[in-house]
Amino acid sequence: MIDSKQVKNLAISLGADLCGIADVKSFSEAPKGFHPTDVLPSCKSVISFACRFPAGTLFCNSSIPYTRVRNSITAKMDAIALDLCIELEKHQILSVPIPTNESLWDNDTERYRSIISLKHAAQAAGLGTIGRHSLLITPEFGSMVWLGAVLCCQELEPDEQKEPICDLCQRCVEICPVNALEQQEINQLKCWEYAFGNDDKRQVWRIACHRCRDICPYNLGIQNFIEC
Ligand code: SF4
Ligand code: SF4
Repeated sequence: MIDSKQVKNLAISLGADLCGIADVKSFSEAPKGFHPTDVLPSCKSVISFACRFPAGTLFCNSSIPYTRVRNSITAKMDAIALDLCIELEKHQILSVPIPTNESLWDNDTERYRSIISLKHAAQAAGLGTIGRHSLLITPEFGSMVWLGAVLCCQELEPDEQKEPICDLCQRCVEICPVNALEQQEINQLKCWEYAFGNDDKRQVWRIACHRCRDICPYNLGIQNFIEC
């Protein structure tokens, strides 16, 4: 058997930039049907990891680089989750990869959800804290990260949760062109309808809005800020 530190080192060696561990008991507020044990009944720990997203994509006039990186990074996250599971199974730890970019419609809350919330898993595992804009903010890379997770059946030493980074300045709320952040929980359909879709002129699917991410004073973190 391997311990928490070795598991995290393994995730980093596979390409993750951050990794933390959450006790499955910290998911008591997960919506019905989207708890880690709804996916893997014998789950004891959730391994959360993040990969950096190049900050330069926020400063482009074109939406193509941001969209392209997002499409590439989700494949990278899925590959890391898969490889991590295989490595853990070599140590007799049964584990399951959570898809990075696959959502189910939840009738109860009328929104699309990943089979477990990657953001809440990352917060529970001490990677960062969820801001008012509904994105995870990490001290190292701000909200410029993509998230992945692996469920596992071994009890692993959990990481401590971080203190909130978002200071509720409301800039993200005010800049949203469709008022999708008016309520405490993001209006997913309003946001997605505006931000995602086809650019008919260029015949390409693209992400046309990330203004709430851009405006946040902590979007590049509080430890590794890059001037542009
Ligand atoms: S991505 Fe754009 S549309 Fe969606 S919440 Fe942020 S600012 Fe609003
Ligand atoms: S812009 Fe302000 S309110 Fe919005 S997430 Fe960032 S710190 Fe929080």
